[in-house]
Amino acid sequence: MTGVTDRSGVTVAEAGGAASPGRVGEHAPVTPEWTCGTCGAEWPCARKREQLLTEYGVDRPMLSVYLGACLAAAAEDLHLAGSTSLQDRFFGWLPRRPRRH
Ligand SMILES: [Zn+2]
Repeated sequence: MTGVTDRSGVTVAEAGGAASPGRVGEHAPVTPEWTCGTCGAEWPCARKREQLLTEYGVDRPMLSVYLGACLAAAAEDLHLAGSTSLQDRFFGWLPRRPRRH
């Protein structure tokens, strides 16, 4: 494993690794705090959630894989392994049905 890359090319650093520099407007996570590098909210912030839904569209399984990898890394960084609140944060916002384009 060399980290997780989403479709916009943003690389999420491995747990304990250095944060990857994100371009302005990307709303990439800043590790190990897992705050948004653009707006400073807890990641995934509202804007990033919108971006992810747009990027992945109906490909919800891939989005779940991506978020699951982020969740695992965040749980290690934040020492919140198995935390339900963290799971809610990464998965609780997902709409029940994929968006149609
Ligand atoms: Zn943001």
